[in-house]
Amino acid sequence: MLFQSKSSSAALSSMAEERKISFDADDAALLVEELRGRFNLGRTKSYEWRVTQLKGISKMIDEREKEILEALQKDLSKPEIEAFLTEINLLSSSCKLAIKELKHWMMPKKVKTPLLTFPSSAEIVSEPLGVVLIISAWNFPLLLSLDPVIGAIAAGNAVVLKPSELAPATSSLLSNLLPKYVDNAAIRVIEGGVSEASALLVQKWDKILYTGGRQVGKIVMAAATEHLTPVVLELGGKCPTVVDSNVDLRVTARRIITGKWACNNGQACIGVDYIITTKDFAPKLIDALRREIEKFFGKDPIVSKDTSRIVNLSHFTRLTKLLNEDGISSKIVLGGQTDENNLKIAPTILLDVPEDSLLMTEEIFGPLLPIITVQRLEDCFNLIKSKPKPLAAYLFTKDRQLKKKFIDNVSAGGMLINDTALHFTVPTLPFGGVEESGMGSYHGKFSFEAFSHKKAVFHRFFLGDQSIRYPPYTPTKTKILKTLVSGDIFRIIRALVRCFKA
Ligand code: NAD
Repeated sequence: MLFQSKSSSAALSSMAEERKISFDADDAALLVEELRGRFNLGRTKSYEWRVTQLKGISKMIDEREKEILEALQKDLSKPEIEAFLTEINLLSSSCKLAIKELKHWMMPKKVKTPLLTFPSSAEIVSEPLGVVLIISAWNFPLLLSLDPVIGAIAAGNAVVLKPSELAPATSSLLSNLLPKYVDNAAIRVIEGGVSEASALLVQKWDKILYTGGRQVGKIVMAAATEHLTPVVLELGGKCPTVVDSNVDLRVTARRIITGKWACNNGQACIGVDYIITTKDFAPKLIDALRREIEKFFGKDPIVSKDTSRIVNLSHFTRLTKLLNEDGISSKIVLGGQTDENNLKIAPTILLDVPEDSLLMTEEIFGPLLPIITVQRLEDCFNLIKSKPKPLAAYLFTKDRQLKKKFIDNVSAGGMLINDTALHFTVPTLPFGGVEESGMGSYHGKFSFEAFSHKKAVFHRFFLGDQSIRYPPYTPTKTKILKTLVSGDIFRIIRALVRCFKA
């Protein structure tokens, strides 16, 4: 059994306690100074340096797959295929894409210039920001750590990564492996928890990308404000899934199950948080979900090896508290079993829990799934709008009008029609939240952009200097200038002729 027992959890947290004193604000200041020195010497800027680091990460993922899978098993009992698809494979693709596209991404982009500034040319030059900090979360501990690192390196920055202490095996693996594959002089891993994160956060960074919950997101943003450091906040929220009756019910059920229980057992920022459907359709949907859950995870899904476990006792307790709230147990229509020793909770569906229950006011981040019924499906819009803007919103329907209405009316970080979570895997789409679900985005080229400054470079030439822009200002010059800005091409040509004569 690879489940982490309570005693081993305790041992890990005491190890984390011991580690606390090993890295303080002075160490963090020295680290940043060291990395800034290397950055200022231009170490990280060349294409060659960037591509070598990216190839190093790619090699590490290939060569150390077994160790990575073991670490993910230790941290979360992640089923191997899920770990492979959602962490290793996504990361590997992200790295390969960056290696393939890097030259193109780095190339200055020519842009048009106005006639008024003729003759001139302009370009947008992507320049690295400097020394950046990445603080990641425990639920996809490898992917959420290294995917932003790939973007930061591709953009030519020096990087400090602080993985989550709540996934200690992956954190330790990253700290041991990364220096063997990348330039340790400019890319560092600092392990630890709140104390180490706090020591890092008081430093001046050139960008911080934080993945995690909202409360800590506020702490990160407040710390960044001190130095006017820009931030990307990859937060979470309650992701709604609206299910119309005009669907392929079996496919819908399978995809909802995948986006909930086969996606780190609901411990995913883009996991299905709650379903909205009509009163009439709910019984059919519940039957379909029940049937498919049994096919996927067996008659007793709590013992299935095909779902991750809850990360630790504190999250297990948090989730059971949601289930144990007054009046909630009677709403369970499937599952509800819990196993504290193995940190497992069965896939659990609840019907029409109160709007003000914890299940409907907090992000669930676990295997509990409330279904809220409405008279008409259109009522879903008011319900979704009554909550903070989610990181993801899902809709299942064949109805074109409804799809359009959903896209037009629901604001969310990202949206997926007729599936769940998959949009996360599309590197041509930006991944990030809106308002309380986060700010900024990354993935693919968006990662490169998140860690680059777009420098505006404008070129003028000494030829064609026109006295019209210089004092003394005369009525003729004013007239010509007004014509030039008018946009009327014939008037402009006439004015230019006059202007060259002036
Ligand atoms: P977590 O507990 O692992 O915390 C995230 C990071 O913040 C860790 O590295 C941790 O050490 C650090 N941290 C914790 N307390 C801190 C403090 N007081 N000061 C400074 N740093 C601190 O992760 P979590 O918050 O439990 O993660 C779950 C949340 O993250 C959910 O809300 C989820 O939706 C969100 N999430 C978002 C994404 C995304 O990509 N948008 C991905 C995964 C998780």
